[in-house]
Amino acid sequence: MIRAALYARISDDRRGEGLGVARQKEDCRKLAKDRGWTVTAEFTDNDLSAYSGKSRPAFSEMLSAIEAGEFDAVVVYHQDRLTRRPAEFEDFIDKCQRFGVKQFATVSGETDIGQGDGILIARIMAAVAANQSDAAARRIRRKNDENAAAGKPHKTGQRAYGYELDRMTVVESEAKVIREAARRFLAGESLVSVAAWLQADGIRTATGMNEWRTPTLRNLLKSPRIAGLREHRGEVVGEAAWPAIITRQQHEQITSRLAESAARNQRSPRRYLLSGKVFCGACGTKMASSPDGGRRRYGCRKGPDFGGCAKVFINAEPLEEFIVRAVLTRLSSPATAKAIRDAEQPDSVGVTLSDELSALYRKQEELLEMWIDGTLTKRELVPAQTRIATRIDSTRRQLARLDTGTGLSEFLGDAQSVAAAWDAPDMTLQRQAAVIGAIMSRVVIHPAKKPSNRVDLSRIDPEWIV
Ligand SMILES: [Zn+2]
Repeated sequence: MIRAALYARISDDRRGEGLGVARQKEDCRKLAKDRGWTVTAEFTDNDLSAYSGKSRPAFSEMLSAIEAGEFDAVVVYHQDRLTRRPAEFEDFIDKCQRFGVKQFATVSGETDIGQGDGILIARIMAAVAANQSDAAARRIRRKNDENAAAGKPHKTGQRAYGYELDRMTVVESEAKVIREAARRFLAGESLVSVAAWLQADGIRTATGMNEWRTPTLRNLLKSPRIAGLREHRGEVVGEAAWPAIITRQQHEQITSRLAESAARNQRSPRRYLLSGKVFCGACGTKMASSPDGGRRRYGCRKGPDFGGCAKVFINAEPLEEFIVRAVLTRLSSPATAKAIRDAEQPDSVGVTLSDELSALYRKQEELLEMWIDGTLTKRELVPAQTRIATRIDSTRRQLARLDTGTGLSEFLGDAQSVAAAWDAPDMTLQRQAAVIGAIMSRVVIHPAKKPSNRVDLSRIDPEWIV
C-alpha cells in the first residue's frame, strides 16, 4: 500500500484559478485514487501565503509526519500551494528523499517530481515563482516576446489540450474532440450542452484528471492556439509554428459567438479596489461600493444601513485607475521611496540587503537565460540555482525581519519595477488594496458640478500618508 499525504491551501487568487480547498482536495483524492495510492492524512492551511514566510501549521505538521516516516507519497493541487520559497521547496524535497517519500504529484500541469526532469522543472518553477515581480521575470518576459514574434510556443511545463508537452505536436485523438466540440458549438449547441457531451463520453481535460466544465471549454474553444495562431499577452501576434486544429474562420466564428453571448449575460465584476476608502465630499459619509445597471460604482447611500446624503456617485473604473496611477507614481518617486525606507529601516542594513538581493536575482536570471539558450546543461543549472535560491531566501528573510509591517519594500524602485510588481500574477486585489492603504489614508469625492458621463478628475481628492 502506498500511503499518501494530501496538502491543500486556500489562497486568494486573482487569476480566477482560485480553487476552494474542497475542490483542491477532491482533485487530489482523485489523483491519488487513479494512481492506486491510499490517502492516509490530509493537511489544510487557511489563507496563509506560501510565499510570505509566515508559519503554516499544517505544512509544518506534514513535514514532521514525513520525518516520522508516515508517508510514501505527497499529493498537492499545484506546486505553488505547497511553497513558493525555493529554499523551503528544497527542504521539502530533501525530507522526502531522506524519509522515504518516493512520489510527489500535482494535479494541475504535468509536473511530476517523482521523476528526474520533473524535479528540475519544479525547481525552476519555484525559482521563477519566487521572484515573479523582479528583474528576472522581466528578462524572461523579453525572451518570451522574442519567442512569440517567431511564432514559437510558450513553454510552461504544462500540456495544452490538443498538443503534446512540446506544444507543437498534435494529439490526434484530442484534435478530433476539439473539432467535434467546435462543430457542435457552431451548430448552435450551448457550451453547457457540449460540456455535457464531453462528460457523458468520459473525455477528460489535458491533465487526464478533470471533467470538462464550461469555463475550461470556453477557454479551449476561443483559444487562438487551436487555430494555429500565436497569442502573446492576450493578443494574436501572428501565425504559430505549430499546426492548426480548427480553421481560422471557425476561430473567428467561435469568438464572435462567445462575445455575443457574453454581451447578452453581462455580469458586473465584483471587484472594488477602494472599498472602505472612499468618502462623500458632500456629507462625509463612507461611500458604498455597488453595481448600478451593470456598472461598478462607489456611491453615497441613504437609509438605516448607510446614513449618507445619496447625492454623490462616481464610476469605479476611472476612479480606481486614477488612484492606482497616482499610487504607482508616488511609489516610484525617490522621495517617497526614501520616506518609506527611512520609516521602515532605521539603518542602512536594508539598503545593503536590497542591493544584495538584486545582485542575486541578476545571477539567477543569467543562469536561467543560459539554460534557455542551451549554453548551460541541466546538470550545471540545478546545483547553481539551488545555491542561489537558498541565498535569495535567506536574504529575503532578513529583509522581511527588517520590514516594520507595511510590506511596501518590494514596491520601491523605478517606475518599471513598481509597475511590474503591481501587475505580477500573484498580486491579489487584497494586496493591492493593502499597498494603497499604506500610502493613502482615504479619498474624498466631491459632488459633480454638472451631470456628465465623463469623470471630472478634479472631484477626486486623495489624502496621502506618505
Ligand atoms: Zn453624502
